[in-house]
Amino acid sequence: KEVKSLNFLEEIVENDLRENKNGGRVLTRFPPEPNGYLHLGHAKSICLNFGLAQKYGGQTNLRFDDTNPITEDTEYVDSIKADVRWLGFDWAAELYASDYFAQLYEFAKKLIQLGLAYVDDSTAEAIASQKGTPTEPGQESPFRHRSIEENLDLFERMKAGEFPDGSRVLRAKIDMASPNMHFRDPVIYRIKHAHHHRTGNEWCIYPMYDFAHGQSDSIENITHSICTLEFIPHRPLYDWFIEKLDIFPSHQYEFARLNLTYTVMSKRKLKQLVEEGHVAGWDDPRMPTLSGARRRGYTPEAIRDFCERIGVAKRDNLIDVGLLEFCVREQLNKTATRVMVVLDPDPIKVVITNYPEGQTEELSIENNPENPEEGNRAVTFSREILVEREDFMENPPKKFFRLAPGNRVRLKGAYIIECNEVVKDAEGKVTELHCTYVPESKSGSDTSGLKVQGTIHWVNAADAVPVEVRLYDRLFQVEDLAEAEGDFKDHLNPNSLQVVQAFAEPSLRDASGKAYQFLRKGYFNLDTDSTEDRLIFNRTVGLKDSWAK
Ligand code: ATP
Ligand code: MG
Ligand code: MG
Repeated sequence: KEVKSLNFLEEIVENDLRENKNGGRVLTRFPPEPNGYLHLGHAKSICLNFGLAQKYGGQTNLRFDDTNPITEDTEYVDSIKADVRWLGFDWAAELYASDYFAQLYEFAKKLIQLGLAYVDDSTAEAIASQKGTPTEPGQESPFRHRSIEENLDLFERMKAGEFPDGSRVLRAKIDMASPNMHFRDPVIYRIKHAHHHRTGNEWCIYPMYDFAHGQSDSIENITHSICTLEFIPHRPLYDWFIEKLDIFPSHQYEFARLNLTYTVMSKRKLKQLVEEGHVAGWDDPRMPTLSGARRRGYTPEAIRDFCERIGVAKRDNLIDVGLLEFCVREQLNKTATRVMVVLDPDPIKVVITNYPEGQTEELSIENNPENPEEGNRAVTFSREILVEREDFMENPPKKFFRLAPGNRVRLKGAYIIECNEVVKDAEGKVTELHCTYVPESKSGSDTSGLKVQGTIHWVNAADAVPVEVRLYDRLFQVEDLAEAEGDFKDHLNPNSLQVVQAFAEPSLRDASGKAYQFLRKGYFNLDTDSTEDRLIFNRTVGLKDSWAK
């Protein structure tokens, strides 16, 4: 068995365990803001946080970082819980930063009492200009030297709802000359007379991210608080609040966020795609959301495998979406039921002239050569079948091993046929092929002694089921959207969805949520838009990396 080296987070945890830091306890958290649906980047964070805890006998909290009442909603809370479960993880506790509002308010008062926070009446613009630039010190606010009593009084009145939105904020009093801009008296509370999805109208002041996040970690006794690299400059502030408040010292560690080629990974941008109708919803199969991936037929196992393979980096990078597709294909190859679907709205009818009219036989075809336990299914065969137009050529090049005048092919799971006659309509379009079959060439009991080079898929004309198939291409046309010019939506691929009418073997009438391999065509699953009399399939992924060409 291959010995994997530890990633840097595993090294940190192992080191902490060796030193018996936190009494050997490992408690991580996954802290989504419920302002959108989870995407594959979140999957990376979930696998990391839950994976680390699992590996070291610890636990993981699911904490909703719901400190911004304007953008958050219960719909998102529910979808996030469903997605984390779907990925295969279970949290120790379901928690909400909003449950800590009273405690956070007390922390803020404590800072005021320590002389480390003040109420500032400056406008947002004035505060921004006071901050200065990274190379020059900022300027102190004229309200910076208010007395502790006045600050306490004003802060309590902010909470009591006496002041309008934006009229005052609470700022930490740190260092307006600090080279770290986050230390230049960051705003820690703002007034927002807004309804919160959980606390209703109880609060009209809300803590800022930096004041809520670390303290929430500390309240929960989180040992390892893992976040993405953009929070490195916030870490000194994270530590500063914990130190000044003298509370449990959680520690923040940063890793590189997941970026994937040909897509965006930001809830804000994904939300725009949904709201402006560029996609059918958060769960559109082209979306990099977990709900989109699920609907498309990606499996949790494949996504976990992908997250494992990309590892944990300390530098931002761009991962080829082809690797994710590879993981999906690897997994579906083991589990997908093989079926035949003629993926062509205009198939060619093949008449097998020496097959008795009115006769139908049931062939037994294996469901999955990778897993004999899945057994066989019955597929009907008769005198008239349908094949894909591209599997026939009237004047084929040398190595064309499919149907052509005088050529022999094997019909998958059935017989060898030979093409004898091409029937055309008045315009010269091929309407039928007249073929003969070799009765002793039946798959599984072939005594014909004939060798043929090609095998093609087919469906029985009499009972083929018309279905709709949705074929997906990249949502965006450019590989690296971070480097692309203009608005990200300028780079949407206008041909990311192709809808094709197709003809399926009758077994697909009973299609369920499982994965199918349409022979020679890729992996598919039943789409949630399907109805009893209209079956719709998504192509999850092709059989091989067709984009690599
Ligand atoms: P977005 O910009 O998409 O809204 P976010 O970081 O604001 O992302 P949160 O809901 O705050 O979204 O994220 C929850 C957790 O998931 C955070 O710890 C965050 O660092 C992590 N996360 C978000 N995006 C990625 C990503 N692309 N790769 C890895 N982790 C991510
Ligand atoms: Mg966030
Ligand atoms: Mg965000």
